[in-house]
Amino acid sequence: MTKLAVYPGSFDPITNGHLDLIQRGLRIFDTIIVAVAKNPAKQSLFTVEERLEMIRVAVGDKPRVKIDSFQGLLVDYVRSVNARIVLRGLRAVTDFEYEFQMNMMNRRLEPEIETVFLMTGLPWVFLSSSILKEAAVHGGNIEGMVPPYVFKQLKRKFGQE
Ligand code: ADP
Repeated sequence: MTKLAVYPGSFDPITNGHLDLIQRGLRIFDTIIVAVAKNPAKQSLFTVEERLEMIRVAVGDKPRVKIDSFQGLLVDYVRSVNARIVLRGLRAVTDFEYEFQMNMMNRRLEPEIETVFLMTGLPWVFLSSSILKEAAVHGGNIEGMVPPYVFKQLKRKFGQE
């Protein structure tokens, strides 16, 4: 049996923190599906296609990492790909409350699916896509926080190129 995990998120855009988590996840799971959540209610900077493309470039050639998108309930998606495990990252304690609530709801909806949390690498503890965008929009130097392709896309999006 191969261990398959779904790593869901907005990835708007993918950061080095997300990549660190994927790297850690690969030590535990055979295959990870990075799944971009299509959430029309949530305002995003990049389209789902742009986000998928940035993940593809950032992940590179790793046959154990698959990239996909989904709409609707996470547990339905997880079931549809025959997975039983959801992978999520924890940074500071501030993530805990939200992740706890979401986990309880998902467990209630689908008791067969477990969520596994991994702690982020120390350099990425304070890195979130939203903080990153906030710095980038004002011309802050975000080099080293995102993969080079994402860096370029952010510059382009904010007309800094
Ligand atoms: P969501 O909108 O679902 O929170 P995100 O793209 O912000 O989507 O995050 C997806 C997942 O990646 C979450 O589990 C989040 O905790 C994790 N994550 C985000 N930033 C980091 C980081 N710097 N280090 C480790 N995990 C992270």
